[in-house]
Amino acid sequence: MALAAKPSSGDQARGAPHLVFIPSAGMGHIHPFSRFIAALASQGAVDISVVIALPTVSEAEADHFAALFATFPAVRRIDFNLLPLDDATLAGTDPFLLRWESLRRSAHLLGPLIDGAAPRASAIVTDVTLASQVIPVAKNELRLPCHILFISCATMMSFLAYFPTYVDGANTDHLTGDVDVPGIGRLPVDYPPQVLRDPDNLFTKQFIANGREIAEADGIPPQHPARSVVYVAFGNRNAAALEQIREIGAGLEASGCRFLWVVKTTVVDRDDTAELNDVLDDGFLGRVHGRGLVIKEWVDQEAVLGHPAVGLYVSHCGWNSVTESAACGVPMLAWPMTLGDQRLVATVIRSAGFGLWLEHWSWDRESSLVRAAEIAEKVKAVMGDEAISARAKEVGREATKAVAPGGSSHRSMQEFLATLGSLH
Ligand code: UDP
Ligand code: UDP
Repeated sequence: MALAAKPSSGDQARGAPHLVFIPSAGMGHIHPFSRFIAALASQGAVDISVVIALPTVSEAEADHFAALFATFPAVRRIDFNLLPLDDATLAGTDPFLLRWESLRRSAHLLGPLIDGAAPRASAIVTDVTLASQVIPVAKNELRLPCHILFISCATMMSFLAYFPTYVDGANTDHLTGDVDVPGIGRLPVDYPPQVLRDPDNLFTKQFIANGREIAEADGIPPQHPARSVVYVAFGNRNAAALEQIREIGAGLEASGCRFLWVVKTTVVDRDDTAELNDVLDDGFLGRVHGRGLVIKEWVDQEAVLGHPAVGLYVSHCGWNSVTESAACGVPMLAWPMTLGDQRLVATVIRSAGFGLWLEHWSWDRESSLVRAAEIAEKVKAVMGDEAISARAKEVGREATKAVAPGGSSHRSMQEFLATLGSLH
């Protein structure tokens, strides 16, 4: 084994953080772990343990770990006896995939094993193939930070993290076409692992599960500074005219702000077959690359609004959307349609003081397109309005109190239940 780093002289520092590594299988996964462990161990500033799964999967891996422990005697070894993988449906599966599956199905045993480690573990570092099983054990059971040592390039990590959103949006459970990865761009269907075209393949199932969990890992830096992103979405049933969509795009571009924009060209979600490149101005996506993200798919809006990076919601004023924004303390720029209750709802934003409503912003007549320059100006104005921002935070705090036990919303629910009780 080529380990460039040298062992430290003497024992590791007493009272130092204790990192527990849980590698997976396959040399392509194990090499980055041993290199990182060697680099850390050579500095002597951390206590290190490595969880070794037994029985050994290959001589090469066993020899590799043996060399690591021989070179760095202060690195501890925690033996981890895997449960037998007795599953006839997996006959003929690639042995490394089986090994990953075996580790994943035994992951619940890791809690007691690591809990018993001395000194107490400070953090866990594991492999992406085990993410969906190990992160919950670390966080919920052991109450420890859990980091992923990602063994491939950042593009692959973005793809992995985005793939569950892609499959949810496509209403499928496997790769069916090109994938527009936020921040990366369009990946042709034959770039990602081709096995993802097979929904029944174990790799596909593991990949989606791990992709769903990876955002929970520690150490992933925020995408963006707090309150720096404008979220633009006009609900499920509000298809905008092409010309207005282009003005919105130009306005967001001219605002200079970061943004996440959900574009809909049809009134029914998931049936929008328009290509973003056909809908948006030529070269728009390239010009805003890195600071603006445009998507057509369904987003988890509550999660978006709850993200600390979001500083403004440009909204059609659906009541759900307004209450979600209010609950998250996110200021609003109201752009209601005349449809339904939206303009009445906009009055609530204005009277509660956590946003701006420009009544002359209409969706209805081509003659009254809201132009890019005005959109840019108002977006910048609300993003920089400290009074609106402070009021939105206050509304968010009030909303949290209202639904907590003893809060007004909670109390009315109790009163409602009491009314039902009194009917008996
Ligand atoms: N490797 C090696 N000897 C071999 C074959 C592979 O040392 O005979 C190492 C190689 O140096 C690399 C790892 O195994 O560190 C393979 O990882 P990689 O990410 O390149 O490819 P994978 O096999 O995971 O697709
Ligand atoms: N929503 C979402 N993702 C989307 C679009 C909408 O989660 O991509 C949710 C949004 O959070 C809200 C609901 O769908 O809870 C839309 O309801 P709202 O009353 O705001 O507007 P409507 O679309 O009914 O006019």
